[in-house]
Amino acid sequence: MDRIEKLCADRGMRMTEQRRVIARVLSNALDHPDVEELYRRASAIDPHISIATVYRTVRLFEEAGVVEKHDFGDGRSRYEEAGEDHHDHLIDTKTGDVIEFFDAEIEHLKNEIARKLGYELVGHKLELYGHRIPGVEPSEREGLIYRRERDVPKDPTKDEG
Ligand SMILES: [Zn+2]
Repeated sequence: MDRIEKLCADRGMRMTEQRRVIARVLSNALDHPDVEELYRRASAIDPHISIATVYRTVRLFEEAGVVEKHDFGDGRSRYEEAGEDHHDHLIDTKTGDVIEFFDAEIEHLKNEIARKLGYELVGHKLELYGHRIPGVEPSEREGLIYRRERDVPKDPTKDEG
């Protein structure tokens, strides 16, 4: 059983075969697919799945807290499995590439800011937008871990056009 499927079962959600397929696609995704991309991947497994079902299902998953919805500034909602490993995103405004990163200093800072304002932090969202500086390679920084979305093997069912 996939993690999402298990979480849904734990929350008492009725899992149909089509929901299971969508859960599996989401669990296997290493990128941040939108509904159309999820539909493409899910219908490659089960051609009877409709885009309306994908919409309904991701919404259900989102409400149950098993997936996270992101808005990367292009008006499309992206989804990813809600993991225990927190990370932030940097979005390349030219290519749409997404870099996931975790920075110890930012994590510390956001807690400190919340505390200074009299709050205990329970969550946060951070998106950085930028474009690559030609000739400049990513450099090391203590406490910074990152992963480029396009380092992930492309989905073979995806038409590269
Ligand atoms: Zn992510």
